[in-house]
Amino acid sequence: MKPIGIFGGTFDPIHFGHLRLAEEMAEALELATVHFIPAGTPPHRTRPRTDAHHRLQMVQLAIAGNPRFVLDNREVGLPRLSFTVETLASLRDELGTTQPLCLLLGADAFLGLTTWHRWQDLFALAHIAVAHRPGFPQSTWKDAMPEVLRAELEARMAHPQDLTSAAAGLLVTRPITALDISATHIRDTLRAARSPRYLLPNVVLDYIQANQLYLPEN
Ligand code: ATP
Repeated sequence: MKPIGIFGGTFDPIHFGHLRLAEEMAEALELATVHFIPAGTPPHRTRPRTDAHHRLQMVQLAIAGNPRFVLDNREVGLPRLSFTVETLASLRDELGTTQPLCLLLGADAFLGLTTWHRWQDLFALAHIAVAHRPGFPQSTWKDAMPEVLRAELEARMAHPQDLTSAAAGLLVTRPITALDISATHIRDTLRAARSPRYLLPNVVLDYIQANQLYLPEN
């Protein structure tokens, strides 16, 4: 059974860094589908974010036409904080115990994993695939990692073809096209009344402009 990719994020806004991560991981890991799951109110990040309906709409526009990409709104519908471990548990309930699930993370997100709610339970629910990200060089990556996380990485390290052999519990890391793009930079660019064109899909930029998101600060 081909693994299903799970890709969470704030997507505020979605950009080509996200889309290439999903596309390249889908190819390399032979994922059946990738579920994009925009976060509701993330527990470990406190600054205000763009309304969930706008972030959902931007993801929908960005992934339209890719039959492997699916928008999943289960986190934004929650009237409370969303934890990845609960999101994975709800997917596991729906998809059954044998379906391989694979949580897709950028290297920065993986480095922060030990701060996540019940982080060690994640491995019982899904595999984790970590994509390289500019600013997090592989040479120093392991040094930046808490010891407990490094131990998990070493114990669970696997090859992409292993991901079909179990439903959860393995870790893979992959190089992807290095795109030094962040949503923070895109928001800052728009707020400075400059153009973020070619960092994100035109349809998303058109949506941002039509809905007057990320306006320059007065
Ligand atoms: P922000 O700048 O607002 O923190 P972001 O651009 O990092 O946002 P998120 O929505 O927080 O985007 O990221 C969702 C996931 O995508 C995370 O796992 C993150 O590591 C990964 N990711 C985001 N941008 C890139 C990129 N350019 N290359 C690789 N991974 C990325």
